Amino acid sequence: MNLRLDNTLARQLEKFRTPWKADEVPEPGLVLVNRALAGEIGLDLSGCDDAALARLFTGQERPGDIETVALAYSGHQFGQFSPLLGDGRALLLGEIVGPDGGRRDIHFKGSGRTPYSRGADGKCALGPALREYVISEAMAALSIPSTRSLAVATTGERVFRETPLPGAVLTRVAASHIRVGTFQYAAAHHGVEEVRRLADYAIARHYPDISGAANPCLALLERVIEVQAALVAKWMCVGFVHGVMNTDNVSIAGETIDYGPCAFLDDYSANAVFSSIDHGGRYAFGNQPAICQWNLIRLAEALGGAVIEADADGEEKMIDLLNGFGQRYEAHWLAGMRAKLGLEGEREGDMALAKALFAAMEGQGVDFTLFFRRLADVPADGDEALHGLFNDPEAIAGWLEQWRARIAEGWGGKAAMDAVNPLYIPRNHKVEEALAAATAGDLAPFEKLVEVVTHPYAEREGLEAFAEPAPESFGKYVTFCGT
Ligand code: AMP
Ligand code: MG
Repeated sequence: MNLRLDNTLARQLEKFRTPWKADEVPEPGLVLVNRALAGEIGLDLSGCDDAALARLFTGQERPGDIETVALAYSGHQFGQFSPLLGDGRALLLGEIVGPDGGRRDIHFKGSGRTPYSRGADGKCALGPALREYVISEAMAALSIPSTRSLAVATTGERVFRETPLPGAVLTRVAASHIRVGTFQYAAAHHGVEEVRRLADYAIARHYPDISGAANPCLALLERVIEVQAALVAKWMCVGFVHGVMNTDNVSIAGETIDYGPCAFLDDYSANAVFSSIDHGGRYAFGNQPAICQWNLIRLAEALGGAVIEADADGEEKMIDLLNGFGQRYEAHWLAGMRAKLGLEGEREGDMALAKALFAAMEGQGVDFTLFFRRLADVPADGDEALHGLFNDPEAIAGWLEQWRARIAEGWGGKAAMDAVNPLYIPRNHKVEEALAAATAGDLAPFEKLVEVVTHPYAEREGLEAFAEPAPESFGKYVTFCGT
């Protein structure tokens, strides 16, 4: 093993972390390691047997005796400001610099209580650790910026939720764990100087090309607005519902982070909500762009003092940037939708056509993922298979006419559409089936699911069951936070 870790954040941002160690655990057991990812990030695991990996990935071994830290942050949770959140069950092991020069955090989730645990147990059950693993790896395979999952190891402990469950640690990899909530923490607890210090660090790490900006905090705000607009547009194109878009779950690097109550749409609805606690639908599928903008306004508030200190017109400039979110988002979304719909070239009416599709699908019980695959077959095979997805096929008839007229002017073809519209996503019933088996000791269905959803586009024989909607008996899917 060659695990040389750095710790620039822990060294440079002392006010944002507390040195802390993972709990000792009775019986570390390796569940799985993502060897492809290890290779990508420059982590050489050769010569490590499973026992050594299990110790490493439960935090029992600290390579080079590096100081592990719990990170501090604040956050708006469902609109309410919590001044002190932080890594309540997580630790930053350190940073690894990959062969591509990229610096990435290696981070444990479920490694025990920390000063930020607020009465909770600091633990993670095996099911949710595996759930994050498969969904984050699926997102990465869909080319959606995301934290990645490197390993899952069990601890030999039971964690108590509604029932006792096997305890586990998920090791995740992220561009960094700096969140909107980290800036809120800086502003709320330490003031302008620490906001600037944090911004300088984030810029050096993620956006070095703006390090010479006259107003670094303003330039950083613009970057984060851009990467978040791009990110949420990708979620909307693939039917991903994050479920808990609190400001502590918004990455400054623009990665999808904190896989809790997230899920992929089955039937399309703008109002789709899976989280058991999202009663008002604040984080419903169709609300995600607006909530993203709301979160970016919170970032602007945190950066505001530093922005205005550097420029008397800073406030106006921030407002202009925030008002520009919608346009940036729509541009990313339209580009994504053109590809999904196979529209070659750009026509004035493309945005209206894309929006009209969602109006036509609402309330029709249409499987979001299958719609785009079947649409690609329409020119060769006719409408029938697509119609079969709708409660009332008439609902899509008018839209299909428009789409046909549009692709007559430029169509990328079925292969191009199938190359951007996944066939295999982590379908909720398949995820639950695999997690239940894994929790009972059979990992095979989970490994199979990971293999399937990390190769999402090309249809493969024998995988029909992974492409089908849930059976009626699966019922309404409900997900949970912090499990
Ligand atoms: P999340 O919903 O995962 O974004 O977590 C929100 C906050 O709750 C973060 O500060 C977490 O560290 C904390 N948290 C979630 N689950 C636990 C747990 N089991 N023990 C301690 N803290 C937790
Ligand atoms: Mg969180």
